[in-house]
Amino acid sequence: MAIRAVVFDLDYTLAVPERDRQTLLDEATDAAGTRSIDRQEYLEAHGADLASETRAPIFDALIEESDPVELASAYRRVVEDTLVPVAGVESLLGDLRESYGVGLLTDGPTRAQWGKLKTLGWTDSFDAVVVTGALPAGKPDPRAFEEILDALGVGPRETVLVGDHPEADVRGAATAGMVAVQVLDGRHGRVPEADAAVDRETLAGDLREFLLQQASLS
Ligand SMILES: [Mg+2]
Repeated sequence: MAIRAVVFDLDYTLAVPERDRQTLLDEATDAAGTRSIDRQEYLEAHGADLASETRAPIFDALIEESDPVELASAYRRVVEDTLVPVAGVESLLGDLRESYGVGLLTDGPTRAQWGKLKTLGWTDSFDAVVVTGALPAGKPDPRAFEEILDALGVGPRETVLVGDHPEADVRGAATAGMVAVQVLDGRHGRVPEADAAVDRETLAGDLREFLLQQASLS
């Protein structure tokens, strides 16, 4: 079936933080004057509460003595300030939109994810954006994928999902019936459910090539 749409994950796929996440957490807890939070602790609390507007409920679960709203804002600011686009993806998005519907499907709190798009200057770079913080469940829940497919007006088999996370992106997309392209950066190995895998450093060129191959097959 001909490919009509391409849906991207955001974090570690199209944009990466310049500093590691633990450093960012440390800067946020310093700025808010609270105890330091371990990255693993944060991830566990994050996994338990994806469906919200901000990260305040996550920090509320982790710290008792201070204002979780203040800490959530501090963390949002340091993350936004350090996010940089992956090489070549801005022209890639523009070029793809001439031939495909282009969507973004990203897990996380609504305000945090839109804040990232704003900082990157990408609020108008997609035909549709779905932030799963506004939904009952995030990736790999099939409802997250259905939401972006509906927004783009396409079916799963004519849509490529491009993402770095083996479970949330690749297995989720494959289960939803989409074509899955895994973005590799050395943190996770390639999973068998991926229809293709590309290195993040060469994502822009490799994805163009993959889409050309798909077009010639259909
Ligand atoms: Mg990601």
